[in-house]
Amino acid sequence: MTSEIITSKELKKIDPVFGQHSFDDHEQIVFCNDKDTGLKAIIGIHNTVLGPALGGTRMWNYANEWEALNDVLRLSRGMTFKSAITGLNLGGGKAVIIGDAKIQKTPELMKRFGEFVNSLGGRYITAEDVGMTTEDMDTVREVTPYVTGISESKGGAGNPSPITAYGVFMGMKAASKFQFGSDILENKNVFVQGIGNVGEALVEHLVNEGANVTISDISQERLEEVRSKYGVNIYGGNDIYSEDMDIYAPCALGATINDDTIHKLKAKVIAGAANNQLAEENKHGLILQERGIVYAPDFLINAGGIINVYAELENYGRQEIMRKTENIYNTTLEILDNAKVNNLTTNDAALNIARERIATRKRENLK
Ligand code: NAD
Repeated sequence: MTSEIITSKELKKIDPVFGQHSFDDHEQIVFCNDKDTGLKAIIGIHNTVLGPALGGTRMWNYANEWEALNDVLRLSRGMTFKSAITGLNLGGGKAVIIGDAKIQKTPELMKRFGEFVNSLGGRYITAEDVGMTTEDMDTVREVTPYVTGISESKGGAGNPSPITAYGVFMGMKAASKFQFGSDILENKNVFVQGIGNVGEALVEHLVNEGANVTISDISQERLEEVRSKYGVNIYGGNDIYSEDMDIYAPCALGATINDDTIHKLKAKVIAGAANNQLAEENKHGLILQERGIVYAPDFLINAGGIINVYAELENYGRQEIMRKTENIYNTTLEILDNAKVNNLTTNDAALNIARERIATRKRENLK
């Protein structure tokens, strides 16, 4: 590769990391490359005031490196606030591996990634996210102790997705209580977008409660599988956002609430598992508020997974995991009330509480 001479004017224009739109005072960004295994990864450590930065690893076929960097910056920041609002002594971090998990993920690549995680000496602790499995974390565990989400047979808390789904279900119930006056979801029209690990488990809770569930996914195979298991409807149209529904549950990827979709939305409640659902927090949070759509902040209601993996570090059991996850109901209601009383977006109300907890700890640490 030739090295080009870049003028300082051009460099200023590029602002490769610290000037990125999604950069928000992240503490450390680590670029990992290994020619032999084809590993190209970025680890983002956003904030470690409350504890080590814990967050999953996502493997995704990003269109380019900017997309990957943007994702890790946004996701790691989200983890900081997720742990803070859930009351966990953890900071925020996340990792992305660039590539197609279906064809490029190998045990060698995962081990090499684990070595990079290990080199950070515990400032970052990984877990699974999109494109990762419990078995992948077991592989990472072979080379570093700084990993959670390993299988139960190896002393871990196992797959976090069912717990995440339970927390989302709790958050959805709380948001429904706030919006409709009742948290019973029977006969409510709920659209679940993305029926992967979390989406499917959420569908199960919803069906058990008697909700009318419609599912969408880019995988036809998954759609058929979930329909045959739970008897739900498959969405047949091509613009889910314009559909009449009571509740929209984004459980695929982030930023689905954006300039193109937000004015079409007919849902009265948004409550789902995907991280960073609002493409632009302030702008889109405000539009939802103005339109009277109750948005249950993603980082608040999808915390079940982190509660589950935190158990591995703190040695608490299933009962405590479920108690903490169930409490998402109370926290969500408190935040929705707080937002209403103070005329804030729900996202801001949640962020304020998380930020306050971090600021208090920072002051204590300085004493
Ligand atoms: P997953 O990979 O198992 O499932 C994602 C599903 O979304 C897949 O079935 C995929 O085909 C589908 N999908 C992708 N693009 C889509 C699109 N444009 N439209 C419809 N469907 C689409 O992932 P998961 O573990 O179920 O996680 C889902 C979301 O929840 C992710 O955003 C993840 O970051 C977030 N999350 C997961 C956990 C967890 O415990 N797994 C915890 C917190 C947050």
